[in-house]
Amino acid sequence: MKVFKFGGASVKNADGFRNVSSIVSKYGKSEALVVVVSATGKTTNQLEELISKKFSNPGEAMELLQAVKEKHLQIANELFGNIPADLAQQIHEHCVEAEWVIEEDREMAYDYVYDQIICIGELISSRILSAWLQSNGNAIEWIDARSIIQTDDTYRDARVQWEVTNDRIKNTLNPLLNAHKVVVTQGFIASSAENNSTSLGREGSDYTAAILSSALAADGMYIWKDVPGVLTADPDLYDHVTKLDRLSYTEAIEMTYYGCKVIHPKTIQPLKSKGIPLFVKSFLDPAAEGTLISDDLDLEYPPIVVLEDDQSLIHFSSKDLSFIAEHHLAHLFELFKKHRIKVNMMRNTAISFSVCVRNDPQRIKALIKEVEQDYKVLVDQDLELLTIRHYQDAMIPKLLEEKIVILEERIRKTLQMVVKNAPAIVPKKSGPN
Ligand code: ASP
Ligand code: MG
Repeated sequence: MKVFKFGGASVKNADGFRNVSSIVSKYGKSEALVVVVSATGKTTNQLEELISKKFSNPGEAMELLQAVKEKHLQIANELFGNIPADLAQQIHEHCVEAEWVIEEDREMAYDYVYDQIICIGELISSRILSAWLQSNGNAIEWIDARSIIQTDDTYRDARVQWEVTNDRIKNTLNPLLNAHKVVVTQGFIASSAENNSTSLGREGSDYTAAILSSALAADGMYIWKDVPGVLTADPDLYDHVTKLDRLSYTEAIEMTYYGCKVIHPKTIQPLKSKGIPLFVKSFLDPAAEGTLISDDLDLEYPPIVVLEDDQSLIHFSSKDLSFIAEHHLAHLFELFKKHRIKVNMMRNTAISFSVCVRNDPQRIKALIKEVEQDYKVLVDQDLELLTIRHYQDAMIPKLLEEKIVILEERIRKTLQMVVKNAPAIVPKKSGPN
């Protein structure tokens, strides 16, 4: 059996659903298949906006919800000619779930609210996909991922409780697969033991597919994307980008750790531990070979460039000019953990300590509030983190054109730099080839 994951770009409109359906129908004839789908297009971003509005302007949040609903009804209408009544009802019910949360006026933590609302993106897209596949003659079973994937209650970054999850996946899905049903479920979302919705972190649908692949001991997991496979750099930002035909699990873990967006960082580990191959393929050209990620092979890699934007450097210095010693660092790391701030790069000097982190204003603000008694804190924003795996010195000047390097580190095969765009110069971004 295989697990397929289709991201938001593959189902951004009616044609997208048609294309996904043709891929699923083709494989599903001869193969047991579990299909994991993300929210359509940019729906998750839209829902994020709606969620922040719930706290400042609930009326506007309701309007945004209505827009999300309309968008999906329109896609379904275009697909079916006229939306089937039961699908319209399902979409309506998922939106009502969100409405209740928007209207609730008891005080609720942001991350909790986020997860109760964000899930409707995936729930609705999977409903549309199920209905469409079914109307095309496929035997489909729609499964609510929240009934099989159980996590703790770390909202927005929930940790999987493996034992229950594995049991539920096997007990629920195996009988369906044995009965030759194609299972359609949602990526990204899960639930806590108390039955609250949780989510696995942005772009978490890949991880969902890996959890399912691992529990079901799949022969292969397939991520269907709008690119031909894993590339040596983002083609929107760089020229001369090529596809990597093969990658080891380890290289893939390294790349995703450094911010390569093609696969969610948590995806590889469950696959590696079961030796399940991961194929990254193009939904625009399903017959093309794509990238195969599998057991650690002795591969030679070309330079691989990962650019992460929206980074901040936080500088901590001791107020009394005392040296930054181990106990300071231990304390700071405790706080990073508490506020769920992932350190991408760090540097210490005698009296200061700097970390490069993704710019998450809410988390950074909460952190600063806790340390400003003891430390002087400065934050530099609008930075980028440039990582080059398997770097070659000759390529670096070109990559740094119009950039100022603020922090640099070379460790074996990896060169990392925190960079800033040179002032008063508009960054030149060359288009895809
Ligand atoms: N829809 C979610 C997101 O946009 C999850 C995913 O697409 O993997 O982050
Ligand atoms: Mg996505």
